[in-house]
Amino acid sequence: MLRAGIISLHTSPLTQPGAGDSGGMNVYIREFVSSLTQAGVACDVYVRHWSDELEPIVEVEPGFRVIHVPAGPVDMRKEDLPSIVDEFTEWMRSWLADNPVDVLHANYWLSGVVGHQLKHELDLPLVTTFHTLARVKAEMGDLEPGARMEAEAKVVACSDVLVANADEERRQLIELYGAEPDRVQIVAPGVDRAFFSPGSIDGARSAIGYDGGPLVLFVGRIQPLKGVDIAVEALSQLSDPTTTLMIVGGASGQQGSSEVARILAMIDDLGLTDRVVFVDPQPHYALSTYYRAADLLVMPSRSESFGLVALEAAACGVPVVAAAVGGLRTLVQDGTTGYLIDERDPALYAKAIDRILGDPSHRAALGAAASVTASRYPWSGLAGRLRSLYLELVEASSPVDCS
Ligand code: UDP
Repeated sequence: MLRAGIISLHTSPLTQPGAGDSGGMNVYIREFVSSLTQAGVACDVYVRHWSDELEPIVEVEPGFRVIHVPAGPVDMRKEDLPSIVDEFTEWMRSWLADNPVDVLHANYWLSGVVGHQLKHELDLPLVTTFHTLARVKAEMGDLEPGARMEAEAKVVACSDVLVANADEERRQLIELYGAEPDRVQIVAPGVDRAFFSPGSIDGARSAIGYDGGPLVLFVGRIQPLKGVDIAVEALSQLSDPTTTLMIVGGASGQQGSSEVARILAMIDDLGLTDRVVFVDPQPHYALSTYYRAADLLVMPSRSESFGLVALEAAACGVPVVAAAVGGLRTLVQDGTTGYLIDERDPALYAKAIDRILGDPSHRAALGAAASVTASRYPWSGLAGRLRSLYLELVEASSPVDCS
């Protein structure tokens, strides 16, 4: 049986997504590992020990284990995690001596650094999915430490396969990091259609206790990158003053709390207190009810390597009005499944939202097309591609060597 060591140093598939450092990557790892396991690949996911409540090894399902690596104190700020990378690597090295794997798959740059060291020491192929890239964030004004950029560049140069979530991320890896095009594979994430599928808007509204006018939904971690301010300002410019903006998620990252305070002040200044509803982060499966209750989803992110939330909403038959960035450019078909907005201009968002809210048959057509498009993204598709990639690498048995 093929055995994969999935490295996810900083965040666990067992955490609640939607706040703090937990979001799309957590859902991604949980879902693809579950799907890979069912496709016959045994997966151990290596996560830093982050909770005293959990056993050192958690068996999620047969063949899918989360291994908690004792490295650093339980509570650590994300910014301090580079200091425990060597300790984490050391622990994994001795663990793998007794529990060997055939391939390593690192997620995010910190795990990439671990994977890079281990691939040389153990002569293993390395697959890396970055999820976010420092040079892409820097282009949008979100500066990351220079050490992260350098580390990412080294991992890019030495990964046997780089998994890009969409065309745009592939281009960024090649143009901003000099990745060798042959080694960058686009493997899109997925959505679980058993939960995320169209349903009754009235039933969903009653389930979440909403009985107001048109409902615009935002789902995600609240931080400057996600552009909640654009959604709020767009709300103030909509033609229908009975429209509500519902924000599901919580503060995330160093600037999360100040961003929440800024958004609250903006809502107050614009006189929108009665029209914006905040909802605490919800369990992943429960979100389908929020999507179904909405007339549309708004996603005004500055950058987005993929944008799982847009795919989940689409799967529920909900049109998406999104920034024309990253994976959202692939996911949203402008004018067919929603609208892509080129500039960070709330007036353009308001215009697109008005167009959808003002024409129920147009909304229905966009939603139906969105749901059809979403059916192209089963998690089993991603797992199948990864399984083939792992097998090719193991059979080729000549990992890239940067030394
Ligand atoms: N999410 C969740 N509960 C919440 C808010 C978000 O489970 O209250 C999940 C959401 O369903 C999605 C993920 O968190 O799967 C966010 O992924 P996305 O790619 O949209 O953003 P990221 O967090 O990666 O920036």
